Amino acid sequence: MGNAMTCHKCNRIVENIGEDVTKVTCSVCTMMLVGMPEEPKQKVSTGRPAGWHFMAEFVDKDGNVFHKGKEQPKLFGTLKPTKVKPPKKKAKRRSKEDIMIAREKEKRAVLKKAVQKQKDFLNHKFGD
Ligand SMILES: [Zn+2]
Repeated sequence: MGNAMTCHKCNRIVENIGEDVTKVTCSVCTMMLVGMPEEPKQKVSTGRPAGWHFMAEFVDKDGNVFHKGKEQPKLFGTLKPTKVKPPKKKAKRRSKEDIMIAREKEKRAVLKKAVQKQKDFLNHKFGD
């Protein structure tokens, strides 16, 4: 039942358009017209550590003093900037694969030792 018409911009066939439509823009051109959604701007790093506003006292690199996140203008510049420790890297949990690999290594080490033992044994028996 729907009419088909070519897009007035790119001549792509647009189907199922209304009877009274005289000009049609295809979905692609519509999207182009609207424009892609803008990427959210990346947060600008303040140089403050995560959770700084929970700290009893935090002094940023400019000398702004905060007590539990509240700026203390009177104290501005009176304190040394709080040293920001780099966040501790969490110890990576060993994956099953890691454990398997470690086990395999262990097995091989044991085997190697056993082989060496045997070699030593043979050398003693038949060597010299
Ligand atoms: Zn089009």
